[in-house]
Amino acid sequence: MFRRILIANRGEIALRILRACHEMGIEVVCVYSKADADAPYLRLADRAICIGEAPSKESYLNISRLISAAEIADVDAIHPGYGFLAERADFSAICRDCKIAFIGPSPEAMGKLGDKVECKRTAKAAKVPVFPGSDGAIEDVDEAAKIAEEIGYPVIIKASAGGGGRGMRVCRNEATLRSSIKAAEQEALASFGKGEVFLEKFLEHARHVEIQALGDSHGHAVHLFERDCSVQRRHQKIIEESPAPGVDRKKIINIGEGAVRLLKAAGYCGAATVEFLMDEKQNFYMLEVNTRVQVEHPVTEMVTGIDIVKMSIMVAAGEHLPIKQKDVQVRGHAIECRINAEDPARNFMPSAGTIETWQVPGGPGVRVDSHVVQGYRVPPNYDSMVGKLICHADDREQCIERTARALREFAVGPIKTTIPLQLGLMEQGDFRNGGVDIHFLERLLK
Ligand code: ADP
Repeated sequence: MFRRILIANRGEIALRILRACHEMGIEVVCVYSKADADAPYLRLADRAICIGEAPSKESYLNISRLISAAEIADVDAIHPGYGFLAERADFSAICRDCKIAFIGPSPEAMGKLGDKVECKRTAKAAKVPVFPGSDGAIEDVDEAAKIAEEIGYPVIIKASAGGGGRGMRVCRNEATLRSSIKAAEQEALASFGKGEVFLEKFLEHARHVEIQALGDSHGHAVHLFERDCSVQRRHQKIIEESPAPGVDRKKIINIGEGAVRLLKAAGYCGAATVEFLMDEKQNFYMLEVNTRVQVEHPVTEMVTGIDIVKMSIMVAAGEHLPIKQKDVQVRGHAIECRINAEDPARNFMPSAGTIETWQVPGGPGVRVDSHVVQGYRVPPNYDSMVGKLICHADDREQCIERTARALREFAVGPIKTTIPLQLGLMEQGDFRNGGVDIHFLERLLK
């Protein structure tokens, strides 16, 4: 097992990984930018190293500074967390070249699953359901128009290298499709450094259901069932839960097994999430694969009792995954609320500043993953999430009541947060009935 790990990240996920390491007897090296110099979790690290100025490019995204810190501190491995460098195949390759283990997939596996066109190809071969659409990148406009005619409008143009919900265009007729392709290619080239775009069927009413999976370096993989992340605003998830309410368990097992085949086909080691959209008839279509631990991983930890972060560290160290598929059982229901420092009453305006009141909920079935303490100043430089509230109960109804109770206990000020919005949702009819779609929240906020 590793002796010492460097965490190339910040905030709640840095603390989450630190906690897993310390429970495993592994020393932790945290890195921080000048904006995070006062972050309280740094005191828990065995060593903390400043890697630069506040802008991410000069710190958390700066590969040479991270590698220098890793060599100075003599670590065996780097955990990238999520965001920043987590899905950069070049970073995974550089770590390998420097003989530092990267806690995540190899650059080859990341290449196979991280690029959307390549991933779709691998998925199709592994018999994972994908959207009807162009088989690869669009070669010419006439061909794209023909495919769109076959699959039927609306269709969506997406960038092969896209991410973060950017670079997508919905086309409802041929004229729009013809006029959009060139522009989409130029935009993709400018934003992602790769102009390749592809076409797929656009679903009007879909739910976002994803499969958590884990693979090791010995060719073994398992899935940890699903999460429903349909409550979104501008493609950002606000609430996640498991199990997905009202979905046929056979269909979940089916796509879960598909996710396992996909990881095996890619030679994948580590934690991955295979994202799907589900239509009204509960047909699944793969969206993409996230080749890292996700923000919402605790939802799955609460229902399965499996520590995903510890597992990812073990498999990176070359150990066998200690679980078989039949060992993975779902118990009860879990809901996560992402607490963002944003004001829902003012169009989600970021609300940075000092947190004077921070009183977290507790009691049975309540977990709070957060790096915040009273007096913490939220730096304006990074994303606005200040913590996550995860509640677990015997069934969905009780879990909603527990989440509402915990949100009422959660006192944060004077900064504004998403707590009032989430509390409102726990009492909202459509949410309570289950089965809201990915546009539900935006309709509600209108
Ligand atoms: P990104 O990597 O940028 O997040 P995704 O492919 O995961 O891109 O898509 C982001 C979001 O865009 C999805 O969660 C969904 O809301 C919407 N979307 C993407 N593809 C489709 C589709 N074929 N039909 C309907 N909505 C889609």
